[in-house]
Amino acid sequence: MPPVLQVRDLQVTYYTDSGRARALDGVSLDLNPGEKLGLVGESGSGKSTMALAMMRMIKPPGRIEGGKVVVGGTDLTALSEEAMRKARLSKIAYIPQGAMNSLNPVIRIGAQMMDAIRAHNPEEPRAEAEERCMRALESVDLKRSVFKMYAHELSGGMKQRVCIAIGILLRPQVIIADEPTSALDVVTQRQVMETIDRIQHELGCAIILIGHDMGLMAQFVDKVAVMYAGRLVEVSRVRDMFTDPKHPYAQALIRSLPSLENKGVFQGIPGLAPSLLRLPSGCAYHPRCQHAMEICSRAVPPLETINGSRQVACHLYVEKDLYAEKA
Ligand code: SF4
Repeated sequence: MPPVLQVRDLQVTYYTDSGRARALDGVSLDLNPGEKLGLVGESGSGKSTMALAMMRMIKPPGRIEGGKVVVGGTDLTALSEEAMRKARLSKIAYIPQGAMNSLNPVIRIGAQMMDAIRAHNPEEPRAEAEERCMRALESVDLKRSVFKMYAHELSGGMKQRVCIAIGILLRPQVIIADEPTSALDVVTQRQVMETIDRIQHELGCAIILIGHDMGLMAQFVDKVAVMYAGRLVEVSRVRDMFTDPKHPYAQALIRSLPSLENKGVFQGIPGLAPSLLRLPSGCAYHPRCQHAMEICSRAVPPLETINGSRQVACHLYVEKDLYAEKA
């Protein structure tokens, strides 16, 4: 089965008064139907920029400077603005960080859902559109009565479910959820994640889950992609990532998780994430990496497939002959 999402060499730059910030530097990624990918990395690593670029929602001073995003065979980067507006929600949906706070407090939930449908299918008969909203609410474990309620009448978890219901109204093939459980208590977090999991099974869509919470990722995703300074540095099956991370930054991320062995002693990642305005030369992780070699400050390591199924961007894993060939 061909991938439902193909991202190729996606590049985003922000032109700020302080200089040019390369926020996404040639990111490529495939996702199969029904697959759940966790996108992780420190703040500023490019996770949300990646989501916005896939939705073509980068605002000035940012600019998509290259690359392709293909969903179900349609190249989103080649669509007109109008066609792209229609593709949002129907092909690819984005549930932004803090989405639940963006619900309009003075408009009933149902009216907000109907607006989303009307923007795509203005001809759809009202009764049909209402039934579609009701079914979406039920899919996320909310009662039909929520249709007539206001956001202030709902708990945080219920508001987040409403946002997910809006996201699935037009049965997109890809859903991107940016930190969908932040600001929720742990019990509600789990319930929201279980809802996302069930929806993914019902719709058969692919899901990209953006977040910091590696523990939550471990339970819900199939694959993990680690970003650092606007690049993907490792993409591995979730089990491989947690038991045998390959990239030194991915290793540091996993080591920083609390475990029974380290008895609550947290091991931070030394150094700070670099400024996108002044990225280190070569591998952007080299000033923090305990395995850094001479080549690391000179050459950007390509994202290469190793062991057949994993992708890692690190000179430790690049065949010496590859450099000879490229020289
Ligand atoms: Fe460390 Fe070099 Fe690998 Fe970068 S390329 S992660 S500096 S070993």
